[in-house]
Amino acid sequence: MIIPRCIIVPHLKSYLALQLRTSNFVPRTYFMKYRHIFFDLDHTLWDFETNAKEVLFEVYGMNGLAGRGIADFDYFFERYSYHNNRLWDRYTRGFIKQEELRWKRMWFTLIDFKIGDEMLSRLMAVQFLERLPFKRNIFPYTTEILQYLKNKGYKLHLITNGFESIQHNKLRSSNLQDYFEEVITSESANSLKPHPEIFAYALAKTGATKEESIMIGDNLDADIKGAMDAGMDTVFVNHVKVQPHIHATYVIHHLKELEEIF
Ligand SMILES: [Mg+2]
Repeated sequence: MIIPRCIIVPHLKSYLALQLRTSNFVPRTYFMKYRHIFFDLDHTLWDFETNAKEVLFEVYGMNGLAGRGIADFDYFFERYSYHNNRLWDRYTRGFIKQEELRWKRMWFTLIDFKIGDEMLSRLMAVQFLERLPFKRNIFPYTTEILQYLKNKGYKLHLITNGFESIQHNKLRSSNLQDYFEEVITSESANSLKPHPEIFAYALAKTGATKEESIMIGDNLDADIKGAMDAGMDTVFVNHVKVQPHIHATYVIHHLKELEEIF
């Protein structure tokens, strides 16, 4: 049976009017829960994996590692990533210092190929760090989403566990520096994510309250658990599609999905 259009429309109009009067409906454009958005940098916006791999390939060539028995660069990079993640974790927990992290990730990688050469490890650490901040690979839709959020009036900041000069060079190289009002590094805050001090420092520096702030990052322990403990809402950027063991306020797999939240 075909119902005439003129019968449906008046009913639909009065139904919607009733819904608006009786519910807590607030048009989205008039209500912004968040005003300050705090981003993590590495692995969230700046494609650390791709950038590190490019630099390590250059360092591998400069030191003639193929001629020293390391024929498979991809496997070399795999071992490097393993040791780097393991040592970053120890660094984050305060078990080792920055300097040790920098050269020992090279040392342990070389050891996997039966090369025990401390001088070479230290040289590679310097070569790697000199080049890395000048790489410019960022995740797809990074500049588009930052511009989108800025246009909507959100205040954007960074909270990053990297070193001060290195993180600023990364931002300049990838043309991201102009999107952020405050860049909080672990070095400037004298604390590391997930410790509450760095989040408290970030809120104080930006004049934000925790209720109007949200943290966006790829690391469940450092970014998500850290921000949750500081009383902030969170967005877990699950680029690599892991099974989360901590429940963030929102989960996304691509930066474009932020448009659905903000
Ligand atoms: Mg990260």
